Amino acid sequence: MNKKFECLRCALCCKNTNFSNVNIDQKTIGEKLAKKGLYLGAKKSKIGILLFNDEFKKLREFADKYGIDFHPVPLFFVIDRISENAIILCWTLGHKVCPFLKKNDDHICLVEEFKPLVCRAFPIIKNIKDTKMKYLSSRRCPGVLKTENQEIDFTSFYENELEAAETVDKKMQEIFNCFSKLKEKNRIDPICQINPNDAVKILGDYLTSGKTCFIEDVENDSVI
Ligand code: SF4
Ligand code: SF4
Repeated sequence: MNKKFECLRCALCCKNTNFSNVNIDQKTIGEKLAKKGLYLGAKKSKIGILLFNDEFKKLREFADKYGIDFHPVPLFFVIDRISENAIILCWTLGHKVCPFLKKNDDHICLVEEFKPLVCRAFPIIKNIKDTKMKYLSSRRCPGVLKTENQEIDFTSFYENELEAAETVDKKMQEIFNCFSKLKEKNRIDPICQINPNDAVKILGDYLTSGKTCFIEDVENDSVI
């Protein structure tokens, strides 16, 4: 028996990118976040693959170079009084079918070398119940179903995918820590308690006028 998870390259997870969704209660989370001045830029049904800002930049560059239609949506953002920018913490893909999946039957990922961490983590997904978090393998993945009747050591079988999933969580935590630190040091002054729906409309105006930046730019003092 194969001792490591083997992807069948069926591309189901690339054609239905909300496969990797974390199960979230958007209303409760949205209200909690708004108190801190953080907003979700996409509705739950539109939340798919998470993209960190560095991943977004590489994919943007690749898409522009090869004329690929790529319109991701900011996943978490802040509206900042100091820089008068919408500060973006991370993105979500914004397409049900990933635009980086080659359009033929080979199921080739055009960005294999730098594909997002979340893609590397799949079929590992996160289940949060009563504030307890657990990693599971998604039963929507045929590669997982194929091994269902086999005895596996979960940690070792999904070693690579778990490592990617843990890196996703670590990076996400670093981003939120960065946000809290910038706030504590009064480097940003987020507008709190906007109705989350209004915040999304306001974000649209900032995007249209180009008044957006990445949280890393604020951290590195490189906001123009
Ligand atoms: S991870 Fe699963 S769903 Fe995605 S391509 Fe591989 S076998 Fe298919
Ligand atoms: S980036 Fe590659 S692996 Fe990830 S969803 Fe797109 S085609 Fe699939």
